[in-house]
Amino acid sequence: MTGFELSEEYQDLSDTVRDFADNVVAPVSAKHDEEHSFPYDVVKQMAEMGLFGLPFPEEFGGMGGDYFALALALEQLGRVDQSVAITLEAGVSLGAMPVYRFGTDAQKQEWLPLLASGQALAGFGLTEPEAGSDAGGTKTTARREDGSWVINGNKEFITNSGTDITRLVTVTAVTGRKEAADGSLRKEISTILVPTDTPGFKAEKPYNKVGWNASDTHPLTLKDVRVPEENLLGEEGRGYANFLSILDEGRIAIAALATGAAQGCVDLSVKYARERRAFGQEIGKYQAISFKIARMEARAHTARLAYYDAAARMLAGKPFKTQAAIAKMVAGEAAMDNARDATQVFGGYGFINEFTVARHYRDSKILEVGEGTTEVQLMLIARELGL
Ligand SMILES: Cc1cc2nc3c(=O)[nH]c(=O)nc-3n(C[C@H](O)[C@H](O)[C@H](O)COP(=O)(O)OP(=O)(O)OC[C@H]3O[C@@H](n4cnc5c(N)ncnc54)[C@H](O)[C@@H]3O)c2cc1C
Repeated sequence: MTGFELSEEYQDLSDTVRDFADNVVAPVSAKHDEEHSFPYDVVKQMAEMGLFGLPFPEEFGGMGGDYFALALALEQLGRVDQSVAITLEAGVSLGAMPVYRFGTDAQKQEWLPLLASGQALAGFGLTEPEAGSDAGGTKTTARREDGSWVINGNKEFITNSGTDITRLVTVTAVTGRKEAADGSLRKEISTILVPTDTPGFKAEKPYNKVGWNASDTHPLTLKDVRVPEENLLGEEGRGYANFLSILDEGRIAIAALATGAAQGCVDLSVKYARERRAFGQEIGKYQAISFKIARMEARAHTARLAYYDAAARMLAGKPFKTQAAIAKMVAGEAAMDNARDATQVFGGYGFINEFTVARHYRDSKILEVGEGTTEVQLMLIARELGL
């Protein structure tokens, strides 16, 4: 065991994305946050850098990297702008990855070059008004008719589902019922690719969110949406299992984003504590402040180790579900706790929206909810313990 030192290649990638985040993303973050506008120009530049193709093979227009490379990029983006980071996270891990993992050759050929190049975005429509943590509550249905799937239902909170460059949303839908061992009838859930220009598909008015204001989130309506039978993604009835595995991976990505947010709060607090003076000296000279920031650093460091470990296991082909749940929970809490402490270090300025720590304060809360709440992570960890 030699620890978690990054190879030269990973370090170069991380440094490149860090420079991009500091010099291209950060200068426009406050503006997009205030205007609730999607950062098309930033996304275009991320696409040109190949970030949307990081974990995909070159034959599909990807960069030939891996999931850890994606996580490192997300950490660096999450440090300065969580909206931009979640746009990449959802685009790759929820949008394109299901096609890569479960798609037929034809589906991969059709969608991956478009998505991996960042020319188009895809969303993942799992959550519904009555199906969040309990995804088994899915009510959206898809029935077979004349060689098509006819889909009806509503989805909630779908990231990247309504931008000008969104072309695809993968939706989960009940496609049948099967008798379980106890004789009861269980829903069979499948995943289906829905191009967003299909009649009957509608991204409704975007939410007015507390944070992640520059990311794109809509409720979706699907009314007699008709797509060819070949748009079934993966095996019929395996949608539930498939999206659970997509969420396991996604938790590593969200943990990386959250680690970046937690670290961003540390970096901003250190700088401010050195500059701001009160009672004749820098506030960082007061132990109440320096210990607060030291604790923040410990949280960010712990979160990073947790997601590195989960990613290393995943790449080695070892079980990583529990470690991903731990990383997601620890990092989400680190981001929220650090954002709260950073706003305290900044005093009244921490409450002013144009300060990055205030944005992190609003943005970080969702890290304890999205892609599985803290309680859901605890359920997964407890289950692994046999409880
Ligand atoms: C900005 C944003 C972006 C999102 N992007 C997407 C997306 O792209 N695609 C998508 O499909 N979804 C997306 N979501 C949805 C998100 O994943 C869900 O909101 C989340 O999984 C929680 O589901 P819920 O909101 O229905 O809450 P619920 O499941 O109703 O939970 C409410 C509370 O009850 C708790 N709870 C539930 N069950 C239990 C239990 N058994 N034991 C203990 N506590 C429990 C929860 O932890 C939570 O605290 C997004 C949400 C937001 C806000």
